[in-house]
Amino acid sequence: MDRIYIKKLEFFAKHGVFPEENALGQKFVISAVLHTDIREAGKTDDLTKSIHYGEVSHMMKEYLESHTFSLLERAVETLAEKMLLEIPGLSKVELEIEKPWAPVGLHLETVSVAVSRQWHTAYIALGSNMGDRERYLKTALESIGKIKGCQVKKASSFLRTAPYGGVKQEDFLNGCAKVRTLLTPQELLAALQAIEKEAGRERKIHWGPRTLDLDIIFYDREIVDEENLQIPHPEMAKRDFVLIPLGEIAPYLRHPITQKTVKEMTDELTQHYVM
Ligand code: AMP
Repeated sequence: MDRIYIKKLEFFAKHGVFPEENALGQKFVISAVLHTDIREAGKTDDLTKSIHYGEVSHMMKEYLESHTFSLLERAVETLAEKMLLEIPGLSKVELEIEKPWAPVGLHLETVSVAVSRQWHTAYIALGSNMGDRERYLKTALESIGKIKGCQVKKASSFLRTAPYGGVKQEDFLNGCAKVRTLLTPQELLAALQAIEKEAGRERKIHWGPRTLDLDIIFYDREIVDEENLQIPHPEMAKRDFVLIPLGEIAPYLRHPITQKTVKEMTDELTQHYVM
């Protein structure tokens, strides 16, 4: 990805854990790397096709001077989020804030805190087999779009499928969505679980009826293997109710471990049925 650099922009603000810092203020320096595609601007000489570094510089200075944080960590985190949410075409931002006059009682050139934050792409499987299933799935898509730092970019049609796992219950309605997100995998899981809870889902029987089930299928090409979260979802290649809607919105997306496309996984599963 192309980059625009803003180096060592000075500002005067009141961030710090000591009350004197919050009262008196001090000099800070910020540097930013803006990741954006500048090819169009390069071909046309049109600023509107790029990111205006002057505007971004003023935005950063204004934000950091009008807020007071104890920690530089908080300052860079919230500023990075604001920039990714508000600057069109910005896919990733690296920020470093330096504090040359940090009150540590020693001579040092500077202390600094740096972060790198970006938009990610997640694929989420949705399922419901209780009550007004279509409404649960539609409401879930709306709720996902309302999570701060989440945008639903594509949604599949809803597919009616027979229940899985041998428990006698109503048919499922399933779908998949492509979501652009600033959340980490664990944050995304927590936000999805809050939506499930809101929909009144109770986990009584494993594989039993549920008003709403939301699973993270993919998160970029990342592999997550934690106690409460595995991505890619370990069961995805065995579930036609995930693969078919996913194939509708991303047939050539590749599984980061097996390297198979969604279409290949679907074909293999269907062949397996025929045999
Ligand atoms: P389920 O009843 O099938 O929705 O399973 C829910 C549990 O699966 C939760 O406790 C999650 O912590 C766990 N889990 C593991 N990996 C994932 C994933 N990729 N997406 C959603 N839930 C997951």
